[in-house]
Amino acid sequence: MARAAWSDDEVEAVRELARNFFEKEVVPHEEKFVAQGHPDRELYNRAGELGLLCTAVPTEYGGGGGTFAHEAAIIEEQTFAGDGALGMPVHSSIIAPYIAEFGSEELKRRVLPKAAGGEMVLSIGMTEPGTGSDLQNIKTRAVREGDEYVITGSKIFITNGWLCDGIIIAAKTDPTKGAAGVSLIFAEVSDDTPGFKRGRILSKMGGKGQDTAELFFDGLRVPASNLLGTGEGQGFYQMMQLLAQERLVTAVIAVPMMEKAVQLTVDYTKGREAFGKPLYAMQNTKFELAECATITKVARTFLDESIVKHLRGELDIPTAAMTKYWITDQLNIVVDRCLQLFGGYGYMTEYPISELYTGARVLRILAGSNEVMKDLIARSL
Ligand SMILES: Cc1cc2nc3c(=O)[nH]c(=O)nc-3n(C[C@H](O)[C@H](O)[C@H](O)COP(=O)(O)OP(=O)(O)OC[C@H]3O[C@@H](n4cnc5c(N)ncnc54)[C@H](O)[C@@H]3O)c2cc1C
Repeated sequence: MARAAWSDDEVEAVRELARNFFEKEVVPHEEKFVAQGHPDRELYNRAGELGLLCTAVPTEYGGGGGTFAHEAAIIEEQTFAGDGALGMPVHSSIIAPYIAEFGSEELKRRVLPKAAGGEMVLSIGMTEPGTGSDLQNIKTRAVREGDEYVITGSKIFITNGWLCDGIIIAAKTDPTKGAAGVSLIFAEVSDDTPGFKRGRILSKMGGKGQDTAELFFDGLRVPASNLLGTGEGQGFYQMMQLLAQERLVTAVIAVPMMEKAVQLTVDYTKGREAFGKPLYAMQNTKFELAECATITKVARTFLDESIVKHLRGELDIPTAAMTKYWITDQLNIVVDRCLQLFGGYGYMTEYPISELYTGARVLRILAGSNEVMKDLIARSL
């Protein structure tokens, strides 16, 4: 594949390292991850050792000192390799930036080196059983008591929820207010932390090796200095600011899935015969794949342009929303059309196209549903 406009020699070197890591050290154990519902914890330490975590975090805080381009290359290689278990995109590209951007100097120095080394796995708890899209309406409460916050509430669908040692919790510091009452507070947790409990690992239709869990807080005490930002009530604004990158990450996952689906289907249909000729020789197969390849190319071009904009600090919220919604919608269309060309084999979990199909579905829902994306776009018109 041609090198993207946003890449350079250094990014390609990181890409190569990531490819080797995922292909040799992660993907061979995928069945085990699915059976246990989470990846092996030590893989985060190994990724940290290789310098594959928090590559965009400044070196003074233990990170790689790179940019989002390094993050994107790693995410692409994870997807190409076929790993759906390690929550590295969430850890490095979604959560670490909140701490790097809004954490106090002390918090950054304490947490980011551990996150970059893989000693600490990060998660973010925004969604609750009662509310997901409507984040202003979260019910989890954080009450200031002296130099601590006391947190009570629950979160659901939390990526890395089973393995995490650090969580950014979205909580109401002022329940009389909507968006202005939301704050983000970082909590270090272990299975023995009083007031903290992990629920079960949730059973999902795809991404089965990835730990998505419920988290419960019942009087969890957190130092008040773990509040992100300069005061209470900044959480909603902070999320709006960083959700653009989260949405871009979703598209960075989606495009390699499309590219992989098309390639797998071209290979399969060239090898499988029906009615005395390869499936690929049939006009319908060729037209289907020509259309899927074209959609994929347009998606790649759009994504690359959005990454370039983001690297320049010019990716606005509506464009990030367009990138996320359009690309993930197209992914679902392309993977469905590709799977059809596999016939019954496409429905079998041992064929990677079936995993791409179930994995694709969630991308239209998480990081803000595609309907919410359209709402954001419409507001900007
Ligand atoms: C595998 C997985 C991993 C996740 N990881 C995390 C995580 O790490 N941290 C975290 O906090 N959350 C996480 N989530 C939660 C995810 O962000 C939410 O599921 C998502 O924001 C939607 O919220 P909801 O599920 O409550 O759906 P609801 O808010 O109930 O919405 C349901 C549907 O209603 C429609 N809808 C909602 N609002 C609007 C609107 N304004 N206009 C038009 N239609 C609308 C959409 O079709 C939407 O899909 C994860 C979810 C999944 C499935």
